[in-house]
Amino acid sequence: MDTSSGTRFLLYPQAPITPGYDKPELVWISDPLGSVTAGPINDRMYVKDPLTAKSPYEYPYLPPYPGATHPVVEPSPSGHFDHLEPGSRAFLAAHAFGCVARILDVWEGYLGHRIDWHFGATYERLEIVPLIEWDNAQSGYGYLEFGYDTSGAGERYPYALNFDVIAHEIGHSILFAEIGMPRDGFQPGPDFVAYHEGVSDLCSLLGMLHFDTAMDRLLRRGSGNLLAMNELNAFAELADERQVRIAGNARRMSEVGSEPHDKSRPFTGAFFDAIVETYHNLAIDQGLVDLPKKSVADARDIDADIANSFKAAFEEDYELKHFQLKGALADARDVMGRALAASWAHLDNDDLTFVNAGYAVCEALQTAGQGDVAENLVECLAWREIFNPFDSVMVGQGGRSRVWI
Ligand SMILES: [Zn+2]
Repeated sequence: MDTSSGTRFLLYPQAPITPGYDKPELVWISDPLGSVTAGPINDRMYVKDPLTAKSPYEYPYLPPYPGATHPVVEPSPSGHFDHLEPGSRAFLAAHAFGCVARILDVWEGYLGHRIDWHFGATYERLEIVPLIEWDNAQSGYGYLEFGYDTSGAGERYPYALNFDVIAHEIGHSILFAEIGMPRDGFQPGPDFVAYHEGVSDLCSLLGMLHFDTAMDRLLRRGSGNLLAMNELNAFAELADERQVRIAGNARRMSEVGSEPHDKSRPFTGAFFDAIVETYHNLAIDQGLVDLPKKSVADARDIDADIANSFKAAFEEDYELKHFQLKGALADARDVMGRALAASWAHLDNDDLTFVNAGYAVCEALQTAGQGDVAENLVECLAWREIFNPFDSVMVGQGGRSRVWI
């Protein structure tokens, strides 16, 4: 058996009720073939699917689930999990497991090391409960469990089919693993909870951008012109992908309240804008669109003429350059994803603020030789009123130091 190429799962890039996402995509996770066994279970997580009604975990009620469960999900004779029928109970269990494994693959790639669970001293493995009678989903100490989304008219959709929700929940776990838990008895920094919410949304956004289906749909929808999706207009509000609707917002700090999800929007928006601007600059640098260099920064004062020239430049011969634009978007995604991951080593829960978090990402970009991208991000963070435009922001050390704004 060739175990080198990993294990196959079928995953929906978006909840399958989302237009254009009704078919799951074949995905390879990095676990060597044969290492994910009936459950599914591997060396760091397992599925437990209760046979009878289970209430949500709440301290001191914690894993492991002790009751009877549905039969474990067996791999196919070739050792993969891509043989299960969408709509079946077994598919649901494998889907939740596969999504978590996929997200870990993405972020371990950006971090360059294995993510060890923050609850590792208590539990060797994460317990995944794919379906309980509950209109919510949660991640807690040693577990991840899912109920139903009841927001649709009269319908119930299992959250375990929703990559967006699973990735967001695992995003919290990744942050706890990499930055740590708040210290007992100490108040964490003022933006701690909002930062967690925003970055968990970004974990989900960047995870979604690893699906061919999502990349193709995002690009083809606007002939590769993603400027239509950032703060410069309201097009993002109409996007099918929930992550894009959240990240493509136009909120500034003076426009949000103290509720953590609301307060997180400017940081998430600035990060998304920086991905979009980096992508556009790469497309120009690579000669894929005929526009002046750095024209994206000018587009903050966008008017109808500029919008039309951008649209025309991307639409020209779009079909001939789709795959190259997709490569540019993947590069922009990875530049920002690596920098976000690298920033965590420099953050401290005790003084976690969006200013410190923004500074740490800029610093990571500069260290990675992406000074122009860092400069873009500084402008995005200032536009969002996270960085004060009247302050100097100094990023980088030694001979590469630069002062912006
Ligand atoms: Zn959350």
